[in-house]
Amino acid sequence: MQELEWKTSCGCAKCRPALNYYLVCDWPDEYADDYQSRFINERVHANIQKDGTYSVVPRMWGGTTSSKELRAIADVVDKFDIPAVKVTGGQRIDMLGIRKEDLPAVWADLGKAGFVSGQAYAKGLRTVKTCVGNTWCRFGTQDSTGLGIRLEKFMWGSWTPAKLKLAVSGCPRNCAEATCKDIGIVCVDSGYEIHFAGAAGLDIRGTEVLGHAATEDEALEIVVALTQMYREQARYLERIYKWAKRIGTPEIRRQIIEDLPRRKAYFDRFVASQRFAQVDPWSERVSGKDKHEFKPMAVVGYQEAAE
Ligand code: SF4
Repeated sequence: MQELEWKTSCGCAKCRPALNYYLVCDWPDEYADDYQSRFINERVHANIQKDGTYSVVPRMWGGTTSSKELRAIADVVDKFDIPAVKVTGGQRIDMLGIRKEDLPAVWADLGKAGFVSGQAYAKGLRTVKTCVGNTWCRFGTQDSTGLGIRLEKFMWGSWTPAKLKLAVSGCPRNCAEATCKDIGIVCVDSGYEIHFAGAAGLDIRGTEVLGHAATEDEALEIVVALTQMYREQARYLERIYKWAKRIGTPEIRRQIIEDLPRRKAYFDRFVASQRFAQVDPWSERVSGKDKHEFKPMAVVGYQEAAE
């Protein structure tokens, strides 16, 4: 803060979250995340809605679920009288209209069923969308669901400069829409095409092909190393397609596809960081962390003034 000549002791709503991100990313082992420097959704681990209630999205690894998980969600919806349930574009279930003070109890019940936060609010890894791949589909060339689950289990909890959405399609028919994601994998007979820098939001952009991997392990290493390069080099809030435009795909390809020792070094730094990042924030709060954040504000009523 001194180096950057901050004019106030606390900074502002723009620079505080940015500085907090850079410190979390660069010193995951030493720096304690400052929750007061986070935006409201990241502070309370849910998405605030227009009426002041919150929505809750548990992880469904690679977009898969089970009867046990669905029953647990149905029970939570009934118990807390949750008014709306919606399937998201990221292949998971969103429960909407939850009061802030109910969040820890909702998370406690979801946690008992084995759910962790889907981090649908985070500037971090969101979803890994998949298709059914060669397990079920006649056209599938590889196990796209299995790779998606593996990637999500490896990468969940990681903070990134802006949100990061992945997808794995089992063949070029591309049912998981991998070619408009931040990072996408399209399985082919010879292995895995690694795509990146797509967008399907405020901007629409097809991905670029970064390279090809012959094995699932190699595909995972490339995706993780690319994510770490982006984590280290992008500006806070810069989506991967904007960062890629600024740095240039040839340079990213040179570092991630051609320079194998450098790729491995990025991969290792991501793995080291995950040792501190893969903590489920919901179960932490169920155990009482940041309890004050979920206390209702005082109910203010009108009282007739005594004559
Ligand atoms: S992308 Fe290919 S493998 Fe996956 S569901 Fe569609 S057709 Fe099948």
